[in-house]
Amino acid sequence: KSLQIKLVTIFVLLVLAIMSVAGTFLVLRVSDFYHGNFYSQMSSVFQDGSISRIKEPDKLNEALTKKSADIGISNWRNYYIVNADDGSIVYASQKATTDVYIDSDNFISALSGATGDRKDTTGKYLDYAVPINCDSGLHIVYIKDTKEEYTAVLKRIFLIIAEVVVFSVLAAIVVGYFLARTIATPISNITRCAKRLSEGEFDIKIEPAKSNDEIGELTQNFSNMADKLKKTISEVSTEKNKIEAIIQNMTDGIIAFSKTGKIIHINSTAKKMLNIEKIEKYKFDRLFEELNTGIKIGDLLYLEGNRSAECEVSPREGLTLKINLEVFNNEKNKTDGVLAVLHDVTKQQRLEMSRREFVANVSHELKTPLTTVKSHAETLLDIIGDNKTAETFANTILNETDRMTRLVKDLLLISSLEGKMVLNRTMFSLQDMINDVISTMSLVASEKGHRLHFEAVAEIPEFYGDRDKLEQVLYNVISNSIKYTPNGGKITIRAGRLYGEFFVEVKDNGIGIPEQDLERIFERFYRVDKARSRELGGTGLGLSISKSIVDAHGGTIKVTSEVGAGTAVTISLPVTKVR
Ligand code: ATP
Ligand code: MG
Repeated sequence: KSLQIKLVTIFVLLVLAIMSVAGTFLVLRVSDFYHGNFYSQMSSVFQDGSISRIKEPDKLNEALTKKSADIGISNWRNYYIVNADDGSIVYASQKATTDVYIDSDNFISALSGATGDRKDTTGKYLDYAVPINCDSGLHIVYIKDTKEEYTAVLKRIFLIIAEVVVFSVLAAIVVGYFLARTIATPISNITRCAKRLSEGEFDIKIEPAKSNDEIGELTQNFSNMADKLKKTISEVSTEKNKIEAIIQNMTDGIIAFSKTGKIIHINSTAKKMLNIEKIEKYKFDRLFEELNTGIKIGDLLYLEGNRSAECEVSPREGLTLKINLEVFNNEKNKTDGVLAVLHDVTKQQRLEMSRREFVANVSHELKTPLTTVKSHAETLLDIIGDNKTAETFANTILNETDRMTRLVKDLLLISSLEGKMVLNRTMFSLQDMINDVISTMSLVASEKGHRLHFEAVAEIPEFYGDRDKLEQVLYNVISNSIKYTPNGGKITIRAGRLYGEFFVEVKDNGIGIPEQDLERIFERFYRVDKARSRELGGTGLGLSISKSIVDAHGGTIKVTSEVGAGTAVTISLPVTKVR
């Protein structure tokens, strides 16, 4: 536990620092005391002058011997009485040679008559020199301390300090270890719990703090935090499970795709609908290619304004799905993936089919009786003779029957449009077909003073297709031009072959179609100017029928127009080989 080691180290370093400061002070004080004590001892012995007044060396020696306790004579401190004339040592407390005083500054100053009481510059010893004027000439009392005692004392002090250091370091280690443990243990407890929390293990129990200091508070707060986190997580996961259950049990299928097209979520309904077992095997593009939709995830994710799509697919016989696709964003509002909602519309489709069949059947069944009524009404009209009332009645029957016939025809058309168109293909000459239509239309055109003009741009091919239906397309388009061109207009029909395609263009100089209506005129019942079209007998079905027929042939129909200048309708059909 590095925290504990650190704390113990700090303790030990603290003890070492205190001990070294204390040691240094101790040594300095001892040195000061030893030196100061020497000089004050000397001056207390010699200052009163009783020794200086002695005139004979013998007496001097006696006096010094008597005062030896005051002077502190010992093995390493001695006095010497030196004859200043020849430098010989007359008396000494211990046997000595003349080199005792040889390099002493104090001795030299005593030679000149002054007391030598200054500290030796080398610091090797302590000395004191007093000049004494004896009858037999100048003598000098020289006291020298070799400082051996001092060194011994210092040595002892060092030893004691070393001992103290060793013991206090040991004590610091022991005390520090226990003290550090009280700090480090709760912290390492919290650390362990935090680690488990970060690994997602929320079911933890933290030992409650024993103290209420900062560490105790930290433990308490951490424990509270862990509890809160546990509660929140469990709430979130309950919520998640709830939503998960809802999604799993929905009757609609739901699939979420990541940006790379991987399935990140799919409910069981969607799995059943698309018969998906191993999700890893499927990616968005592959799935939608298998469903024949041509929708690519890239188009949804990266094309501006193309963030949702809808399609109808039939993954297998007897199942039709409507799929809504929508791009979803992440929390930073960046595109994150695509959500697909699959809705089973098989039932609706079946209903729609039966409705269509019903309309088709009823209209078909009505055709025969209507024809009968019509022919009988005509016969009636012929045989009535002069009865005016009867004639009016018969005429009304005839007119209403005509109207019903038209209605039935429209109904039949509508139902044929809704279902799959069945083409009755044969090989025929497009040239002949165009000529037939033009000759039929020319009468109506000339009634309105229009010039109808045909132009073959290139060789017109034989064509394999449903002649009746294509005739109807041409008829619809030309009749529009006749209808929506003011009297005396010019209608040009051009036809030819370009590469693999046959094209026919019908161009007029009529009222034209506003741009905003252009894309809608192929819708069923769509008329630009409702009042005007109705007046002209239009129901808004012509172009939508034409488009269905052209589409069934694999061709295209396009309209370009300018209001007031005219309209051009171009039909292109791929020239297919006879199969
Ligand atoms: P129906 O053809 O069923 O009798 P309709 O002619 O009104 O009715 P469409 O042929 O589908 O219906 O045409 C749709 C609408 O497009 C028309 O109502 C008309 O407003 C406009 N339109 C079509 N052809 C022309 C044209 N050549 N010039 C101007 N407007 C046209
Ligand atoms: Mg029309």
